[in-house]
Amino acid sequence: MDIKADTAALRQLDRAHHLHPFTDLQDYAEHGGRIVNRAEHIYIHDTDGNKMLDGMSGLWCCNLGYSQHSIAEAVYRQLRELPYYNNFFKCSNQPAVELAKALAEVTPAQFKHVFFTNSGSEANDTNIRLVHRYFDLLGKPEKKLFISRKNAYHGSTIAAGSLGGMAPMHKQAIGLTYVHHINQPHWFENGGDLGEAEYGLQVARELEAKIEELGEDKVAAFIAEPVQGAGGVIIPPQTYWPEIQRICDERDILLIADEVICGFGRTGKWFGSETYGIKPQLMTFAKAITNGYMPLGGVMVGDQVADVLLSGGGEFTHGLTYSGHPAACAAGLATLEILRGSDIIETAAEQIAPHFQRRLREFEGHPIVGQVRGQGMFAALELVANKASRERLAPESRGAVFCRDRANSNGLMVRQTGDAMIMAPPLVCSTDEIDILIEKLGIALDETASHFG
Ligand code: PLP
Repeated sequence: MDIKADTAALRQLDRAHHLHPFTDLQDYAEHGGRIVNRAEHIYIHDTDGNKMLDGMSGLWCCNLGYSQHSIAEAVYRQLRELPYYNNFFKCSNQPAVELAKALAEVTPAQFKHVFFTNSGSEANDTNIRLVHRYFDLLGKPEKKLFISRKNAYHGSTIAAGSLGGMAPMHKQAIGLTYVHHINQPHWFENGGDLGEAEYGLQVARELEAKIEELGEDKVAAFIAEPVQGAGGVIIPPQTYWPEIQRICDERDILLIADEVICGFGRTGKWFGSETYGIKPQLMTFAKAITNGYMPLGGVMVGDQVADVLLSGGGEFTHGLTYSGHPAACAAGLATLEILRGSDIIETAAEQIAPHFQRRLREFEGHPIVGQVRGQGMFAALELVANKASRERLAPESRGAVFCRDRANSNGLMVRQTGDAMIMAPPLVCSTDEIDILIEKLGIALDETASHFG
């Protein structure tokens, strides 16, 4: 096979026919992109012959890397046995049943039920349907409003995009009128002269003020990621979550934890809710549930909501053709089997993540790094021109875009969000591999500093 000729042809076809997600379509049609054709352990390969350390676990999903053959085999076996049947009309299938049971076992104690979807976006749409149904059944049909946070990412369907707080997305799609947004707990960006603890309380109390403004009888739920991931790995101040929990508890507001990124070990425990001591009534998951091998998401439904749904009578008029798809659930089961049968989450939390976070903090002295923040196996570096004033390195995030491109060219897949460099390496990294990541990142930072210096 002439890989070079194949690559040129593939690139041409890609540019001619393939519209890519979250991409400048004109730019891509003109210049094309990288064609990834192979992966093993924590490395991906492209058809130009480049090997790259994947510092983003795919799109925050391949937490166990790319060589988990038992997942692939489980999917293959399931496709041979029962490739598909729906879960409508009083039918079920074995992998869906077994995965539902396993999820009830690994998630916090309040969760015994799951509603399956194909993605995190659909799972967050499902949250809206579940919450509205719950309050309707309770005889509180006026409780329909959601509160979320600016710069949150909850997915890209119209409803999930509305729940999210990404301004560029809201510009291109009209948001749902029953979703309202408060500020994110981003101390570096918005904290001003306040200490982190004080700022955390202040920004959490925006939830209370918003509930007052909209009316407690109208607000149904608050949705948030334990750590805002796509928004820039925004680590909340210690004071933030206890205050949010207090407000939700006192005000009869359901708390939804979107664990699409935080779930399955990323923050150091199985779920971000456990790391931050949150007790949500609903919990969104996707991505790492199958280690990215198959599309699968869902909502864990806590007893408070499940008890009402299960005793309400009448049809819950929501579902997806592939809710509880047997092969996707087989991938989920095989992934949970790996996680439960190994000490990957514990080793990542106790050995790899401390090394990763410690090494990243060496960049605190770097001339263009304004803040290093992180928790468990993800982190962000804010790039600045001036550490004291937090002045940006370049307009329109061009400093971080440049740094990301340099890192990518040097064999490290990392991501940029705004002015922050983002990393979320697989949990199965060794400390030596973390050192390689740090070395490549350091080179990209130096190159960025000299370019903008
Ligand atoms: N929620 C969070 C926190 C996410 O990070 C994402 C995707 O990145 C989603 C929801 C949407 O998931 P999906 O892309 O599977 O629809």
